[in-house]
Amino acid sequence: MSVLSTDLEVAPECQVPRLDFELTPGCDHRCAHCYNVWTARDDDAQAGYDTGGQLSTPELLALMDKAVTQSGARHITITGGEPLLRKDAIEIIARACQLVDSVHLITNGSHVPAAAAAALASAGLRSAQLTLLSADRARHDRLKGAVCFDDTVRAAVELVDAGVPVQVCFVAMRENCDDFEGVLELCLALGVRSLSYNRMSPTGGAIHHIARLMPTPEQVERNLDVAERLGRAWGISVGTAMPIPPCLIRHERYTWVRFGFCSTGTSSPNIVIDAAGNVRSCNLASGVMGNLVRQDWAEIYRVPYQRVFRRNVPEMCRGCAYERSCQGGCKESGYATFGSHTHVEPFIYLAQHPEWRDAVAGAITQDEVVPMERLRRRGPPKPAVAPEAP
Ligand code: SF4
Ligand code: SF4
Repeated sequence: MSVLSTDLEVAPECQVPRLDFELTPGCDHRCAHCYNVWTARDDDAQAGYDTGGQLSTPELLALMDKAVTQSGARHITITGGEPLLRKDAIEIIARACQLVDSVHLITNGSHVPAAAAAALASAGLRSAQLTLLSADRARHDRLKGAVCFDDTVRAAVELVDAGVPVQVCFVAMRENCDDFEGVLELCLALGVRSLSYNRMSPTGGAIHHIARLMPTPEQVERNLDVAERLGRAWGISVGTAMPIPPCLIRHERYTWVRFGFCSTGTSSPNIVIDAAGNVRSCNLASGVMGNLVRQDWAEIYRVPYQRVFRRNVPEMCRGCAYERSCQGGCKESGYATFGSHTHVEPFIYLAQHPEWRDAVAGAITQDEVVPMERLRRRGPPKPAVAPEAP
């Protein structure tokens, strides 16, 4: 039983089943596909996200208590940046485990020696997610912008040994789709029984790597065929976190792979709270709905952002049989890339306009890494950008 289970203050219309906490914007990897909104460049639609005002340990623990008490959340995901770069990460995770029924950790895998895995297990961590982009060490490290393949594999071994189930995240990109089968094989060898398949969905600085990294629907479909065949044979569950529009790939062909759609504005939104208390509608959204240090949950949750967001879909999706569920894919990546929540998002747009890849490649430098100097205070938080009226 959680420490708050008899003490909730939740208005029914403001209740959410889960919350994400971004413990820090800092990260020591340099993934070009990184979707963190604070990596956006100055002239991008998502520019100017304020990463200042990071809370101290007692302040963050109090914020987590308040968030759970006022939202009724029963599941917490701890993420970042790289959450384990915070010295108090284990303490915060332990508190989260006391507050809710299940806690999931997303880590880059470079900070999980045996002692940390044991500490996470004794804290009560339910599961941990590690990213594997290839079973080929050099290719994985190049895409991660860091020498980290061995760390990630070791982290998987240590966590599984400590009794924490591991989920592997595979981000499908143009340069690693052919490596997917190898990653599934590696999962089997490591005792990993769950894989989250995420086709690249660019926000933050990742929009500048679309030409090089965005996969084609054909590549994704080939991966899903492998997931269906080998995932089933090997008992590795496969779910897609980023939406895969059914107009590009028919979902009915798959019975093992589970497909997810955009959760913003549903009864189970993926709301995220950063380490300064800023609340956003999901990890890829840059608009701040409010600040939970200064405001109550009910006040923040009632801002119209999610409702308006839900009503807006790209024009091409109006009347589609999947309009309500699919919503046109990931509308935050449409906003990040094109400056509008109703613009067709880049995965679909590139499939419709393959010549756009060359146009974008010509306009954008492709060999840059995510610049850490952006992790600085920039002034007041950017308010939530209201999605356009339908
Ligand atoms: S809602 Fe839009 S993106 Fe989704 S399947 Fe229909 S037309 Fe395609
Ligand atoms: S906009 Fe929707 S699909 Fe995109 S990341 Fe957010 S919740 Fe997921």
